[in-house]
Amino acid sequence: MTEKKIWHQHYPEEVPATLEYPKAYLTDFLLESAREFPKRDAVHFMGKRITYQELLEDVYRFAHALADLGVRKGDRVSIMLPNTPQAVIAYYGALFAGAVVVQTNPMYMERELKHQLSDSGAETIICVDLVFDKVKKVMEETPLKRVIVTSIKDYLPFPKNLLYPLKMIKEGQHVDISYGGNIHRFSDLIRKAPANPVTMPVESPDELALLQYTGGTTGLAKGAMLTHRNLVANTVQCAAWMYRGRRGKEKTLGILPFFHVYGMTVVMNYSVYMAATMILLPKFDAGQVLKTIAEEKPTLFPGAPTMYVALINHPDIEKYDLSSVEACLSGSAPLPVEVQERFEKLTGGRLVEGYGLTEASPVTHANPVWGRRKTGRIGLPWPDTDCRIVNPETGEEVKQGEVGELQVRGPQVMKGYWNRPEETEKVLKDGWLSTGDMAFMDEEGYFAIMDRKKDVIIAGGFNIYPREVEEVLFEHPAVQEAAVVGVPDPYRGETVKAFIVLREGEKITEEELDAYCRERLAAYKVPRRYEFRSELPKTTVGKVLRRVLVEEEKQG
Ligand code: AMP
Repeated sequence: MTEKKIWHQHYPEEVPATLEYPKAYLTDFLLESAREFPKRDAVHFMGKRITYQELLEDVYRFAHALADLGVRKGDRVSIMLPNTPQAVIAYYGALFAGAVVVQTNPMYMERELKHQLSDSGAETIICVDLVFDKVKKVMEETPLKRVIVTSIKDYLPFPKNLLYPLKMIKEGQHVDISYGGNIHRFSDLIRKAPANPVTMPVESPDELALLQYTGGTTGLAKGAMLTHRNLVANTVQCAAWMYRGRRGKEKTLGILPFFHVYGMTVVMNYSVYMAATMILLPKFDAGQVLKTIAEEKPTLFPGAPTMYVALINHPDIEKYDLSSVEACLSGSAPLPVEVQERFEKLTGGRLVEGYGLTEASPVTHANPVWGRRKTGRIGLPWPDTDCRIVNPETGEEVKQGEVGELQVRGPQVMKGYWNRPEETEKVLKDGWLSTGDMAFMDEEGYFAIMDRKKDVIIAGGFNIYPREVEEVLFEHPAVQEAAVVGVPDPYRGETVKAFIVLREGEKITEEELDAYCRERLAAYKVPRRYEFRSELPKTTVGKVLRRVLVEEEKQG
């Protein structure tokens, strides 16, 4: 609760409870870093180096190109790219053009892509050649008017260092793309456009910078409207939490995808704000990450628990020098204590758990990086972030120490959901955001997440909304009923299990259902396990009781 900010007592002295936010727009971060550190490397990508000055010039070029193609202030521009220099250029370029960035996961299948593009009304997409076929297929049925295609190799110094991304590049080369008309080549646009400064047409920090799609218990994903003010605030809060005062000195490992809000804020925007060098990796591969750390010597490594788990279990981990890593922030799912301890031993750095959600840009809590942290806790609220724990039924605050729904309020909290006033009303009241997570606050003001009110399954750091998977299963002619739950998985934290009731007289195998789902859902959402039943547990009004299925699973 606001009045009882007991957590401030546990802030390290260097972290103020209230911050100044002198920069209004995300683009100001890049302008300032390029002005102060023009020759410092902004991006390292497989041997390619791009300075802040060069980055700003490419960003300007891309913003001019977008404007020439007809992109205007407020237009939605989808970016469907893995972590590459192009992802950074497209993001800041679109913002400079005054557009609203729509982050699109390259793993999306046609159905998900179609929904996101239609819902956001994006007329422009910037995608990697690997996913071009999917984009082409949905073009007719979405508002898309133009596609800008890039290849991973566009920013690689050929032929150096091609080994690792070779597979991705080769796959991309096999895609048949006829440029011309509405299909543009990213590299051509950059080459032809001038690098002279662009004035961003946005007039207030409260205008939208981003639509960040997130699922919900109500089915398909909805767009969280994040403003420049929201994203600037969360980046500045992040810098205050790290309180290292080391602008122009940090090196960040960019393995969290930038299309996810966590990687976007804590890696990309934070790095650009701090004039840090971002070391980009387009895909997680434990061996490659270890090699990159040993060679590139990042100081910061924000990640997800599954990444740290994969690294500590890599057979060759002892062979690599990981001592450059000073701080790691782990978020998106609970961080097991053993993982934290082992990783800290290996790097000599600090690994702390934090917490956040898309609707809060995303971070609201973290354990102090340099101060006292507690295991099994998501830590303390970030500066300017108010919290309270309420009874989800009555909305009344519970007593300190009791479990209830966590609500947060602060400058990083979204404006609402895009075109969904009713959904917005359910989660945002008087500036308070209902997180849907059940939590408690201990006597020292450290918070812990107990359970999720919403039924989201988090597998390997990716959020899966059961309803969406169920809807796909329901569409299968042999399926009468389907319920999807998360079941414990030693590697991914949770994995998807589907309970199926077949229509009378129908027969279908697990393999057939698996193939069916793989065509319609991103791979991480596809159920890994199936169980066929004659009926599902239900409430008196016929709503399937997922919780009962989860309990049955737990009891084996
Ligand atoms: P997203 O909107 O994709 O960022 O997912 C946000 C959700 O991830 C939160 O509402 C939580 O349920 C979950 N989450 C994030 N961080 C943690 C954490 N440290 N421990 C447990 N759950 C977490």
